[in-house]
Amino acid sequence: MPELPEVETIRQGLEKYLVGHKITDVKVNAPKVFSGEPKVLIGGKIKGVRRFAKVLCIDLSNGYSIVVHIKLTGQFIYRGPNLKSPPDLSKKVVGGVPGKHTHVVFSLDRGGTLYYNDVRRFGWIKVVRTKEVGEEPFIKKLGPEPFGKLTFELFKGVLSKSGRPIKIALMDQEKIGGVGNIYANDALWLSKINPKVPANSLTLDKQKDLYDAVLKVLKEGIKYGGSSELAYVTPDGKEGQYQKHTLAYGWEGEPCERCHKAKFVKYFLGGRGTYVCPVCQK
Ligand SMILES: [Zn+2]
Repeated sequence: MPELPEVETIRQGLEKYLVGHKITDVKVNAPKVFSGEPKVLIGGKIKGVRRFAKVLCIDLSNGYSIVVHIKLTGQFIYRGPNLKSPPDLSKKVVGGVPGKHTHVVFSLDRGGTLYYNDVRRFGWIKVVRTKEVGEEPFIKKLGPEPFGKLTFELFKGVLSKSGRPIKIALMDQEKIGGVGNIYANDALWLSKINPKVPANSLTLDKQKDLYDAVLKVLKEGIKYGGSSELAYVTPDGKEGQYQKHTLAYGWEGEPCERCHKAKFVKYFLGGRGTYVCPVCQK
């Protein structure tokens, strides 16, 4: 599932391409993914794009916002004058745009279009008044997030209150917003922590190592434009590159580059693929 770096990359792309465009029409092909009145968006000029952990929020000049969770396979693809030469669409944009998985089409002025594709249709788009965005249940219950309000003090507090395995605690969106499976795996390897140890058993030094590691891997993720697993693509239709730079994630059976004493093993923890070096992460 897209995590903070992927959704941040989408946000940056949407902001770059959409700001200044006016919405001239909204066509909803799949009512399941869309809630609220599409008509109120028409005539609204796009002012900015915010992100709340994995949720995007496109703010319009007319007091309305479009709140979006792309979940597993949602994709935003922009085509229009702000994209000088559109790159070839990634094969991950199944069916192209518009195609059979295009569920919402936002027509924009100056010949622009924003397509929402979603093969699995778990994602959702909701029209809300901008001043009520913070009251959305999904946004309201999100924990503080890295690069946002998540200070080391708060991070320490979250860990010390949980007896659950550290990897599971790290991925609890209501405690810390935005850290999912790929980056949790990499941060734990980087800080040499066994994903199964209880969160509240970490020493102060280890808490600090992990906090720094979380920020570091998320920054790397953003630098490489996110990781293209499943259906993730950037708003110009390209894939991210972080999957080629993961530290532990996906390296089952490969030697650990740090200790050179063991190969990565994979097991499932809380239902999610977990990659560890049995020597570094004892
Ligand atoms: Zn190792």
